[in-house]
Amino acid sequence: MYYDAHCHYISLRGKKYDEFIIAAVSMDYDSSLSTVSLKNEKILVGVGIHPWNVHNENLDRVLELTEKADFIGEVGLDYRYAKADKESQIKYFQAFVDRAIEEDKLVNVHALDAWRDSFNILTRSGVKRAIFHWYTGPEDLLKDIEGAGYYITINPSVSFQQKHLRVLEKAPLEIILTESDGGYEYRGKMLEPTDIPIALKIISKVKAVEEEELKRIIERNFKNAFGGD
Ligand SMILES: [Zn+2]
Repeated sequence: MYYDAHCHYISLRGKKYDEFIIAAVSMDYDSSLSTVSLKNEKILVGVGIHPWNVHNENLDRVLELTEKADFIGEVGLDYRYAKADKESQIKYFQAFVDRAIEEDKLVNVHALDAWRDSFNILTRSGVKRAIFHWYTGPEDLLKDIEGAGYYITINPSVSFQQKHLRVLEKAPLEIILTESDGGYEYRGKMLEPTDIPIALKIISKVKAVEEEELKRIIERNFKNAFGGD
């Protein structure tokens, strides 16, 4: 089995991925509603409002869906591309963080150019389980992420994105998960779970660990992250 810790599954239009356990994230109310209906033994479902949608989505109607979800996400802060101001983004993120604590759920976080602020909100609020997806943040924050018991995901773009590769070199295997960010188009290519074996090959090489052993480590990390204690 392969593990995809962050995938926009509904954007892949019903494609089947038999060898994958997928954490399906949402962006807004409509995608949250569709995503929760996909829940099965191989698809974990998340609901949330992506920071890019904070300016045009109602918070309360999405919060109403969290009890049907396995985890919260995709939520977070984006100081580069989001249309909403910082204050509104923080208000939404904090509401989902509080809900994750109430329901003892993992938070699947987008934190572009807002890595430290997002981390501080999670730790100050007392979140136990969180994933920083497609981590390209500061290398010194990796120690704190490890200390807090949180995780980062490595995306197949590690094959060409230098910043992401440097993160992989620095991050301990204990905090690494794999993701596709499937359903998202990046540099003209539609990302898919089937890209994950490419990421595994690179992680295996960079970390000098056999692929089979690496798959076991990632499975364990995934189960710890999503499954609780
Ligand atoms: Zn995403």
